[in-house]
Amino acid sequence: MAAIGGRLAELWPDAVVELDHANAYHLLVATILAAQSTDKLINTVTPALFAKYPDPAALAAADQGELEKMIFSTGFYRSKARHIIGMARRIVEAHGGEVPDTMAGLIDLPGVARKTANVVLGSALGKNEGIVVDTHVSRLAPRLGLTAQTDPVKIEQDLMQLVPRDQWSIFAHRLIWHGRRVCHARKPDCEHCTLAPLCPSNGIAGTPNEPARGGGRQPQTRAQSAAKAKARAAPSAKPAPSAKPSKPTRPSAKPAKPAKPAKPSAKPGKPSGSKRR
Ligand code: SF4
Repeated sequence: MAAIGGRLAELWPDAVVELDHANAYHLLVATILAAQSTDKLINTVTPALFAKYPDPAALAAADQGELEKMIFSTGFYRSKARHIIGMARRIVEAHGGEVPDTMAGLIDLPGVARKTANVVLGSALGKNEGIVVDTHVSRLAPRLGLTAQTDPVKIEQDLMQLVPRDQWSIFAHRLIWHGRRVCHARKPDCEHCTLAPLCPSNGIAGTPNEPARGGGRQPQTRAQSAAKAKARAAPSAKPAPSAKPSKPTRPSAKPAKPAKPAKPSAKPGKPSGSKRR
């Protein structure tokens, strides 16, 4: 972990959240909008949005239809509009118009789960309450052997055990930057990756041989991938030279009657396969 963290720090010393924002309210709105979208696109939408709704009070009073038009291009615009208006109303009613600065306060807001809360806490409020686990962290942490989990909450818990607390926020951003720029989902650039000597997925990430998202280094995972390889090999071990074209439903379950290849498939009643149907 120390070696990986060190190399990431050398590579991406200034990694930051890539959503444009001037305060916690901006980042909260932008992060909610960024779901199922890209930071780049969100950054084209938010300037007008923040100009029209400069604070939670203004957003709380927004007309949902007008808001939907402004955020239409971000996708899922109806639920996003509902969420950010609901979020703003809760901030006004329960927090005096100020974005709460605790995990509990943030995840209590409509549309806000741990990931969004961690983004806001780490990048706008300077608090290391947890580790952002987005799609990139979910992909890279197992590839790097840092977790065997696939559930974001469990991945976060594993990473919190490994990463020094004062680096939780910056570590996540470095991992995200690495995921966006080098360790892509389908075509990771292992050949030019400075983490390659430390990475158990070097050369196999993005290929069918990549261990299921669940970790490369753990013996358990290797056992799982070996079992999978066996399972994959098993059916192909009995491809029986295709002597019986008339029984397509039987993959290779009963090699019991190899002695009757001459039958042209006339009797559907006898073979045990028909009973099952
Ligand atoms: S070596 Fe490959 S799989 Fe490992 S972090 Fe680098 S790009 Fe990703």
